[in-house]
Amino acid sequence: MSELFGIIGNPIGHSLSPLIQNEAYELNEIDAYFKAFHVESKDLESAIKGMKAIGVKGFMVTVPFKAKVIPFLDEVDPMAAKKKAVNVVQLIDGKFVGYNFDGEAWLKALLEDMNTQSIDKESILIVGAGGAAQSIYHTLSQYENLHIDIANRTVVKAEELKKLGGNHKQTTVISLEEAENKQNQYDIIVQTTSIGMWPEINQSPITITNLKESAFVSDIIYNPAESELLKQARKNGARTQNGMKMLALQNALAIEMWTGRKVDYEKMMKSLKEALRFI
Ligand code: NAP
Repeated sequence: MSELFGIIGNPIGHSLSPLIQNEAYELNEIDAYFKAFHVESKDLESAIKGMKAIGVKGFMVTVPFKAKVIPFLDEVDPMAAKKKAVNVVQLIDGKFVGYNFDGEAWLKALLEDMNTQSIDKESILIVGAGGAAQSIYHTLSQYENLHIDIANRTVVKAEELKKLGGNHKQTTVISLEEAENKQNQYDIIVQTTSIGMWPEINQSPITITNLKESAFVSDIIYNPAESELLKQARKNGARTQNGMKMLALQNALAIEMWTGRKVDYEKMMKSLKEALRFI
């Protein structure tokens, strides 16, 4: 019998995970089907119980359930617990166990696109302090030579994020306005807010006018392929990256965890590009 995997969220109609997951199963002859489940917040607990009852072996979690799902899981990996967010769940010995791959997937994508093995002695700005920022901050905070500043509209949320601590050198919490003024101090800027996402494609949380020479700017948004912030960064001479590779890597990591099979995330990226007509 085919295995069933899925993704829960609200809204979920926009999710591209069913497309790339089902294509990957077909290409790799994995006998499984992936479905997007729209869940109302009030039904989250019963949805999770229901998935266990019908034999779902694993599922992804997206907005707005990454934190809310935690109380309804049987176990949470310590890293995900620290990040206070789960985005992949696996059934292990009858228990739903939650993990978080956001930060790892982003970092792997960053290193690949920067064509480097490691980031060290860099000054990094994270724009945003939501779930994705939390995971990225936690992943980066393991590097002891990094300065990692956080800029967010709601500064108190960035202060909360800073309290996660880490092994890195230092973090300063700043406003979006300060980030704009200090932008030429950073080697890497990562944009993690939802500002600039389709259909609000002309918006940007900060205006890029004056970057450090050789700066790398990453925006985890993937629709549009080039956000307003990335457009401004490119025009200011930066190397840039969107969120597509991060998304493909997360899906590939989930498949590997659920089925033990490594799949080609480059092919997933190609499908994503085609689906979004980015080519
Ligand atoms: P989240 O937890 O809801 O966080 C949203 C962030 O956006 C917060 O920092 C929030 O600031 C900020 N924000 C929202 N509206 C704003 C506005 N009008 N002005 C200024 N800041 C605003 O969401 P998330 O899960 O971190 O996801 C954020 C984005 O990342 C989404 O677009 C999501 O699609 C994308 N994402 C991509 C991937 C990938 O694989 N490429 C993975 C995860 C997420 P406040 O704290 O002030 O509200």
